[in-house]
Amino acid sequence: MAINVTRSSMPAFEEYCEEIRELWDTHWLTNNGIKLRTLQGKLQEYLQSPYVAMFTNGHLALEAVLASMELEGEVITTPYSFASTTHAIVRNGLKPVFCDIRSDDYTMDASKIEALITDKTCAIVPVHVYGNLCDAEAIDAIAKKHNLKVIYDAAHAFGVTKNGQAAATFGDASMFSFHATKMFNTIEGGAVATNDKALYDRLALERNFGISGPEDVPMIGGNAKMNEFQAAMGLCNLRHVDENIRARKHVHDLYMELLGGHEGITLPISQVDVEGCYVYFPVLFDGENYRRDEVFDKLTALDIHTRKYFYPLITDFECYRGMDGFDSSATPIAKSVSDQILTLPLYPDLADEDIRRICAGILAGRHI
Ligand SMILES: *Cc1c(COP(=O)(O)O)cnc(C)c1O
Repeated sequence: MAINVTRSSMPAFEEYCEEIRELWDTHWLTNNGIKLRTLQGKLQEYLQSPYVAMFTNGHLALEAVLASMELEGEVITTPYSFASTTHAIVRNGLKPVFCDIRSDDYTMDASKIEALITDKTCAIVPVHVYGNLCDAEAIDAIAKKHNLKVIYDAAHAFGVTKNGQAAATFGDASMFSFHATKMFNTIEGGAVATNDKALYDRLALERNFGISGPEDVPMIGGNAKMNEFQAAMGLCNLRHVDENIRARKHVHDLYMELLGGHEGITLPISQVDVEGCYVYFPVLFDGENYRRDEVFDKLTALDIHTRKYFYPLITDFECYRGMDGFDSSATPIAKSVSDQILTLPLYPDLADEDIRRICAGILAGRHI
């Protein structure tokens, strides 16, 4: 049987049907409906954030928050992320400036940020990669000193806390993705969490054509609203999210046990004081004892589907080729991690015997 890299979490069929039943009474399918408002309230609590602006996906949420801040100039970000992070910056007419990452948790290396700041820098967009939290204390201090905005791409950090404090509480705003493949999903979906009421109000306009009332259109907004069926899926999935994290932790722990102590394989670290969400299981192969592409091919032949996530680096994408500042040799750690990385299958109901089969496949793929 094929093992895919992920498997979307879904509630019982009956649970979802029960959740959407009332939509057949109200015929209210989108535009700030009851399901959306209920989910928003629950997420404010879960993410420990006073304002959570709901979106139809995470990418448009990120584009909207950058647009809402009316930024101009350069934005410091990481090349070690999903396409969305840099695309959102570029599509807002901003210039990304790439900072290298840490070799232990793959987040932006805060000690390298200040050297990249110029008089054009307006913001920093770091990413909590694989649910590993950025050094928010250091990043937020640098931002304060230089008067920069900080927008976290927290697409991987749903349910992650440090000393009990949710990732959503860092910086000026955090974007979350509720895409089908993420730890918590609304099929497609996303949100911006912030402490800033004015930003929240602006985001509401940004996602609804800039319309503020029946006869008032103060702004040129787009359309990025979450609909009631998405929100209903979220309400169901949120009920199971903590048990989902526990089941993922079991998979994570078994991988750690079976792959630990093998030369040439680097396993994910656990950050101090951080409760993770176990959304991905990233492994590095050193290129000598194990070669990433060989392991990938051998597993694929066994019908086990892993993902080179993130490879290639954003700075190596075809669409950015030759553009000023897009140079992967300027971020050597990101480049080397990207060449060695493989994320293994991880979802709550991945069976122990499948995990054993995956690990045996990896270990049998040793190069020397
Ligand atoms: C998934 C993801 C996004 C985009 O979110 P969507 O909801 O798919 O639009 C952005 N950044 C990162 C790091 C992601 O993993």
